[in-house]
Amino acid sequence: MFSTLKKFFKSTRFKITFWYSALFLLLEILIGVIIYVHLHTSLRNQLDHSLERQAEVIYNLVSESKVDLSDFKPDSLYTSADDFVYDLIYEAVVFNSRNTYVQVQLNKKIIFKTDNLKKQRLEFPDAKRNSTKTRFREEAFNNTKIRAACFQKGRYKIIVAFPLELIDETLKSLTDVYIVLGPLFFFVSFCGGFLLSRRSLKRMDAIIKKTEMITALNLDERIEGEEFNDEYGRLAKTLNRMINRIKVAVDYMNQFSVSASHELKTPLTILRGEIEVALKTAKTFDNLKEILLSNYEETLRLINIVDKLFFLSKLDNQLISLKKEKVSLLEFLETAALPMGYLGEKKNIKILLDVEEDFDFEIDAGLMKEAMTNLIENAIKYGDENQSIKVAGRKDKKEIRISVANKGLGIPPEEIKNIFERFYRVDSSRNRTSGGVGLGLAVVDSIVKWHGGRIEVKSTPGYETEFTIVLN
Ligand code: ADP
Repeated sequence: MFSTLKKFFKSTRFKITFWYSALFLLLEILIGVIIYVHLHTSLRNQLDHSLERQAEVIYNLVSESKVDLSDFKPDSLYTSADDFVYDLIYEAVVFNSRNTYVQVQLNKKIIFKTDNLKKQRLEFPDAKRNSTKTRFREEAFNNTKIRAACFQKGRYKIIVAFPLELIDETLKSLTDVYIVLGPLFFFVSFCGGFLLSRRSLKRMDAIIKKTEMITALNLDERIEGEEFNDEYGRLAKTLNRMINRIKVAVDYMNQFSVSASHELKTPLTILRGEIEVALKTAKTFDNLKEILLSNYEETLRLINIVDKLFFLSKLDNQLISLKKEKVSLLEFLETAALPMGYLGEKKNIKILLDVEEDFDFEIDAGLMKEAMTNLIENAIKYGDENQSIKVAGRKDKKEIRISVANKGLGIPPEEIKNIFERFYRVDSSRNRTSGGVGLGLAVVDSIVKWHGGRIEVKSTPGYETEFTIVLN
């Protein structure tokens, strides 16, 4: 249970959903803050505007009154200036007497104030001389906060105030709505995000499931969805290409182990047969010697195969380091090719060197000699009798080209691409008299590639074959 939860929290699905919802929530908060600030300022502006208008209207009414308010004479209608002003401004200005505070001063003396002010009075310092600009201030009044506007002109000072409580209440209810809706929005966006990510990751799940099912035994299977031109399509395509490469490598390894066991089994079977015959039938020392000699040849063949395989695996795993040194072309070819001359004596084959111009170049001379030995051995093995093998070296532009050419049966064009594969032999060479096991050219190929070079093959069946090592 705990591990499932842990897995869920670590999943891409959860991460996508979480970030999606968090972003959504952040956006919601941002919009909320913007609305709040905007509403707050516009309510304040509206309030200031209406306070200012009210103060000015009251000023106009009282200042234009024909009655001398500084020396008010009570009559049967109005017992005080306060009564008179109340009537005067009440008729002209519609205001909520319960919430709006109004105070009218004439020559610093209060001649009118609304009942809600009771015994208190609104204080506002005098304006700077000649300034008729409405001034605003906030103050605490009867445990509430009020915003007051003061319009002062001539002998009159009009103060109109309004409790801020109402604006605060409006803003508070907006905040309350956000506090309730915020988590709800977050929850809804989380669920929505989860469903969305589940839908979009469904194909990913299918790809994972299918990939998990692929083993060395079913490398023919392919992941579906390559046809879609999106990330999943690309992922399926990439994985399928990788499976293909693995399949080629596994097929190669399988083929290799079949060939290797076959090549190793043949001399071992011959050895066993010969030993059995010796044990059953050999009577004289000469009989035994003859069989032992044949055993010895088969053992050499086995050692040759194992040596070459070992050498190849060392090259494959880069366990052999390149010890490059400067050598002269002529000197290298003389030491690599001429000592092989004795091998050709049986077939009356001569080795001829063809070097027009000597120069120095850098190679691992030991490894490259091994490659040359294999090429010359082949030229002798597969070449015609009574001819010569031409070993040539030259520089062509920036490339160094070393070739071994012989007259003989040659290689059919369709076989050329295969001859560098391990244990591959052209059918005509698949007889034990050639002595080959199909590893010589694989060794040459690995050595040349290790040097960063390549091999070119030119063969005219029935006439001539030329292998060229090309180094940059
Ligand atoms: P092998 O041990 O059989 O010689 P190689 O890997 O050296 O194995 O060569 C692979 C095959 O390429 C040989 O079996 C042979 O058929 C062909 N081949 C190589 N060199 C020559 C050549 N000079 N002339 C004709 N065929 C050749």
